Amino acid sequence: MKSLIQSIIIVFLVSMALPVHANTQTVDEYAERMQLYKKVEAVTQIPWYYFAAIDQYERNVRHVRKDIPKAPGHVEIYFRPEVWAGLLNPNPNDESPTTIQFFNGLGVDGNGDGRASATNDEDVIHAFANYLLSYGVDHDNLKIGLWNYYHRDKTVGIITGYARIFKHFGRIDLENKHAFPVPLRSNHSYKNTWGDARGWGGRRIHEGTDIFADYGVPVRATSYGIVEMKGWNRFGGWRIGIRDINNNYHYFAHLSGFAKDVRVGQIVEPGMLIGGVGSSGYGPPGTSGKFPPHLHYGIYKDNGYTEWSFDPYPHLRLWERQERQNIKKGR
Ligand SMILES: [Zn+2]
Repeated sequence: MKSLIQSIIIVFLVSMALPVHANTQTVDEYAERMQLYKKVEAVTQIPWYYFAAIDQYERNVRHVRKDIPKAPGHVEIYFRPEVWAGLLNPNPNDESPTTIQFFNGLGVDGNGDGRASATNDEDVIHAFANYLLSYGVDHDNLKIGLWNYYHRDKTVGIITGYARIFKHFGRIDLENKHAFPVPLRSNHSYKNTWGDARGWGGRRIHEGTDIFADYGVPVRATSYGIVEMKGWNRFGGWRIGIRDINNNYHYFAHLSGFAKDVRVGQIVEPGMLIGGVGSSGYGPPGTSGKFPPHLHYGIYKDNGYTEWSFDPYPHLRLWERQERQNIKKGR
């Protein structure tokens, strides 16, 4: 009986300890990846934040695509077998650096074990670095290399944006902190209305959550990211779009105006002031007051070839709760 109680206590303690353990692992994983990026930088002279940016972009794409296998390691850059081994290589799973090179494959042996393995972190990142080196190591040439690899302006824009974000903060663990878009102390209310028919703006569904608050209440960035768009649109009024490092595009509309100095290309962090709640939109520039002031907040996800709207409501609830807990803890 005593041993039964003991094992129940042990099971209980282990289950308590697990989340903490998982957390520590994540921290280690960021550190491990960072070490790898810097190692490749030392060899190639290509700044580490480009590798971090490419890896981050590909990680995001992988997590929402069913046609790409799960990553075997920490680095999530994906090479299709024919790209790794070479298009005409009769063996798509070839790991011989010599024959891969002969068939113009991109695979290389990065860790010096004699094999070019598409499942090894070091080999994968060295392969991408090696590809980029054929263009050069400065920003403009790296950009050309990225364009020739992805053939998509949006992808090149997202990756170079991530490179700037990582360079700016000097770290890569920027995805776990969020802020609620309006101060918690402000009078505000919101309901789950994603997918409803719109009151204004034609037949499209409502792609967001409306947060009702007083005119001029501060609107804040919800994540780390970069301002991708700022300006007037007939329906959205004054609006701002921010890309975070998980390929999400955060859309803030109907603003009363923008925070001083906010500009396209600016790097933001959670809680940073970007504008004020308003009622602008549904007419030529400057039109406002056609509906009660509210923040229209939408999130769109990019998967490498298309972008779609998803429901921000559960995230808003979570960020609101987290921020409330952090205030209580005095953080
Ligand atoms: Zn709305």
